[in-house]
This record gives sequence, structure tokens and C-alpha cells, in this order.
Amino acid sequence: MTVNLLDLDAPGLTAFVTSAGQKPFRARQLLHWLHQGCESDFTRMTDLAREFRQMLEREAVVAAPKVVSDSTAADGTRKWLLQVGTANAVEMVFIPETDRGTLCISTQAGCAMDCGFCSTGKQGFNRNLRLGEIIGQLWWAERTLRADARAAGNPDPGRMISNVVFMGMGEPLLNFDNVLPALRLMLDDHAYGLSRRRVTVSTSGIVPFIDRLAAECPVSLAVSLHAPTDELRDRIMPINRKYPLRELMAACRRYLRHSPRDSIMFEYVMLAGINDRAEDAQALITLLRDMPCKVNLIPFNPFPAADFARSSRETIRHFAETLTAAGLIATTRKTRGDDIDAACGQLAGRIEDRTRRAERVERREAAKARVGEGLVQSPGAPRAEPPLVEVAP
Ligand code: SF4
Repeated sequence: MTVNLLDLDAPGLTAFVTSAGQKPFRARQLLHWLHQGCESDFTRMTDLAREFRQMLEREAVVAAPKVVSDSTAADGTRKWLLQVGTANAVEMVFIPETDRGTLCISTQAGCAMDCGFCSTGKQGFNRNLRLGEIIGQLWWAERTLRADARAAGNPDPGRMISNVVFMGMGEPLLNFDNVLPALRLMLDDHAYGLSRRRVTVSTSGIVPFIDRLAAECPVSLAVSLHAPTDELRDRIMPINRKYPLRELMAACRRYLRHSPRDSIMFEYVMLAGINDRAEDAQALITLLRDMPCKVNLIPFNPFPAADFARSSRETIRHFAETLTAAGLIATTRKTRGDDIDAACGQLAGRIEDRTRRAERVERREAAKARVGEGLVQSPGAPRAEPPLVEVAP
């Protein structure tokens, strides 16, 4: 059977080469070619013995997810749609800035978390991505960006991607078995050699896996917070009913014991009239008072079937000033790639929904439309749906 080498981490490559009768150091050479050189052609791996290369050609491939679309926004933000299986597509976004290049990657086809403000959440969940589909995103983007730079006249572009954020489709910590080896490859000096602080895992708050990440690979942590009280967070993020704020904040403090010079990034999407009021700012200040952290305010990006609206620019500015006056570090995310729908919460590829959530959302939208037309009676105040999956630690 043919092996996709992107599905193997460093120990996996060692096992593969030794089972083929090669010395273990060949695995490190292969790691260099694959992840530093972004090479897929075994005939170019000239420091490998010829018989070894011939064996690789017979028994292995280097295959990243297939690109089905590639678009670049006026501000340089680039978005790729990647096919992961016949009916599933995820997205990946590259954000170039003067001092860095950030790649935002996906970890699942769809997402089971059902956050109310997220277009991915409305689509339901299909499956976890494999290691090769996760690291393959970085491999493919780095290779493509280097090739483009060479074509533009830079013969030795060096590394194009300096930062990776796990903020695309999916909840990374619910695909821990594939995310962990991907993280290790990103940090490995023989592979991508990224600094621990330049790789950020963003979670909706899966407490047991925050602890595992802290113990096994404490990269930068971002938490999708979005509400300062359990009452509100229960409503817009069903995961809070399983891991309420007290437990989440305790897990964040434990995380910082493993990376004491770091801080946690709390993401807070600004929803008009929902979480952007003066009392929400005060509750957030109380919640985060003693936590080494930054708060990233994200202007909400409306999408079809969204139940929320974006807070006004003035409200966001005032909210940020209130946090800053209380001693918190607050930034407001710039919207990038608006013309190609590349902003957070719009990373919605196509997925085959095993949870049938998309169907329910459609039915609900149709019912809402009928209420609007006076065809059926309103069922009353909207009720938060129970989470669609039980989240097992
Ligand atoms: S915000 Fe993140 S965790 Fe929540 S539904 Fe969207 S992708 Fe999933």
C-alpha cells in the first residue's frame, strides 16, 4: 500500500525508513526534504541512496489536499479552498504583513461546536482531518508562496510563513491526536522550525485538552470567549454548558504555569446588543482582572442565516477604551480579505454534514420566513438548542 509521507510525524518517518531496511538518519534527511524543502519529487532528493529513492517512488507519495480554488484579495490576503474527500472542502487563508506571514489553517471538516455566531458552526460536522491534511496545508502554502516569489524574481525567498494560527474550520482540541503531531512538526527544527510563540491554537474551551496541550506542547493559546458570563455564553456557545467559565479560567491559569512568560489571547466577537453593552465590558474586566492576557475584539461578519448583527464602529471603540482604561490590553482585529470572504467566521468550505445541523438551520430559516409572511404562528422567544454532540474528554 502506498504511504502518504505527510501523514507521518518524525517518529513515524523513522519507523517507515527502518522498516524498509534503511538507517534511522535517513528519516531526518527525508524530514528536511519534505518539510524544509517542501519537496515532493523523490528524484530531486539527491543525498538519498538511489535504491532508497526507488523504494520511495514505488511505495510512497507526498500528497497535500487538492486545491479547488485560489483567490487573492485587494489587500493581498489569499484564500484557498481545499478538497478533503469527495464531499468536503475546508479553507485556508494566508495573511501577508510587512513583518510576518500568517497562515490560518483548518483541523476538521465542519465543526460540532455550534457557536451561534459562526458560519462554520451552522454547517454541522463531518470528520477530523488527518495529520497529512493538516500539515499538508502548511506544506502546500509554503511551497506555493515560495514558487510564486521565485517566479516574481526572488531566487532565494526563504521561509514565507512565519506564523500559523489554528483558527480555521473546526475545534482543534477535538482533533488532538492529529493536531499534536502537526504542532510538533511545525516546531521541529528539522521540519518548519517555527517558534512556539508563533504557533497559536484557538479553542472554544475544551478544558481537559487545554491541560493536555499545556503538558505536551504549550504553544500560544487563544480562547474563543465571546461572552463574559455563563448566562450569555451558554446561549451563544453550547460548549459552555459543559465547561463553564470558572473551569475555563482555571484551565487558562494552569496553562500559563507551563508557559509563564506568555499570555492568553481571548477572542471576543462584537455582537450588537448582545455582548457589547457597558455591563458586558464591566463583567469582562472582572472576569479577566488577574489573568495575563490580551483581548482581541472581532467585528462580527454577518452571513446568511446569522441571528446577529455587527456592533457599530463607535460601540467597538468605546468597548475597547473601557477595557484599556481598566488596565486590560485590548486590540480590535482589522478585517482582511473582505472581498474574498476571508475573515474569521467566514471560513466556510463545503462539507457533508453528518450532524444534519445544516438541514435544521434551513428548516428554522424557512419557518422564520413563514412567520415573517404571517403564515405560521411565532413559537415565542428563541430557545437555545442543546449541544449536538457530547464532548468527551
Ligand atoms: S467558532 Fe470555532 S468552535 Fe465555534 S463553531 Fe465556529 S469553528 Fe467551531
